[in-house]
Amino acid sequence: MASKDYYKILGVEKNASSDEIKSAYRKLAKKYHPDINKEPGASEKFKEINEAYEVLSDETKRSNYDQFGSADGHADFSDMFGGAGRAGGFSSFSGSFSDIFSDIFSAFGGGGSGRTRVMEKGADIDLQLTIDFNEAVFGCTKEILVNRYEKCSSCSGTGAKNGKEFSTCGECKGTGRVRFTQNTFYGTTIREGICKTCGGTGKIIREKCAECGGKGAEKTRSKVTLKIPAGIDDGQILRMQGQGNAPVRDGISGDLNVKIKIIPHKILVRNGIDILLDLYLPYTTLILGGKVEIPTVNGLYELNIPELTQSGTVMRLKNKGVKMLNRDIYGDMLVTLKAEFPKSFDRKTKEIIKSIAKETPVNQFPKYKKILDNLNK
Ligand SMILES: [Zn+2]
Ligand SMILES: [Zn+2]
Repeated sequence: MASKDYYKILGVEKNASSDEIKSAYRKLAKKYHPDINKEPGASEKFKEINEAYEVLSDETKRSNYDQFGSADGHADFSDMFGGAGRAGGFSSFSGSFSDIFSDIFSAFGGGGSGRTRVMEKGADIDLQLTIDFNEAVFGCTKEILVNRYEKCSSCSGTGAKNGKEFSTCGECKGTGRVRFTQNTFYGTTIREGICKTCGGTGKIIREKCAECGGKGAEKTRSKVTLKIPAGIDDGQILRMQGQGNAPVRDGISGDLNVKIKIIPHKILVRNGIDILLDLYLPYTTLILGGKVEIPTVNGLYELNIPELTQSGTVMRLKNKGVKMLNRDIYGDMLVTLKAEFPKSFDRKTKEIIKSIAKETPVNQFPKYKKILDNLNK
């Protein structure tokens, strides 16, 4: 799941400003636009440029990409789902993209061919899934049932009876887009827009499909397999492109967004990729030292407590934490040692402690002594 280097694709530095990114994108998009550049590989390159720009032009996506190597702030799930979703090359372009796109069309005298038809996108579905602590730490596979609209099987999503009872839209000649000229202060520009006659589908239905009433989609209850990556944290969202609702007629499906809720562990606490444990021990163990068994995500671990360990000491167990999403990096386990005193003690024990207290000079307690010394000033 190696991520592409979007900065390299656009030929900009990692710290490039949004203006630099925009300008690099415009230059490359013009150079590789499939209507202009007919060389083999140009359209692939064009898609790649667009993908890079879609991420780097969006502050949130860019920061997620910088941090996690993907625009969603988590693993690149589109790979994990065998590329499900994303029909065609383009999907959700930001507003700034369409601005640039129209600029390109006007710059080249409206060179658009309809190939880059704006696809309609089905509605997203938001769900919540509860998993337990270890499932989040190690990752897991879950099957969930999703109520959603899928492409109507009777009409293959066309909305027309038998999938055949439609004709090509005369207004746009089936491209779904129309070009119109606009007279502005600066002169005439040619712009493209969605064909109003067919709603951008390029088709006019002669007879509606009875199964879906012309919607092209039917309600289903489908099993979806979720591969939850190791290291997912509470509140994170798995976005699965194309697993949401099918659109009305032509277009691409929406996304399925699954918010992860993690049942807390009884003792261990997650702090990002680190695991925290407040380890209470009998005060005598901290004084005398000894071996104690502690729970870790990988089972029991024997911890060696040195003699005279101060209460509050933090022991760091390297790489015994949680795997970082999408990276081969592990957090640590931080064990805070805390003295626990008996709830009560008998007279004999009390006498022993008293004599110990009497016999231990105050300079054996340098931190306490420092406070005492400063009281007197
Ligand atoms: Zn139908
Ligand atoms: Zn049309």
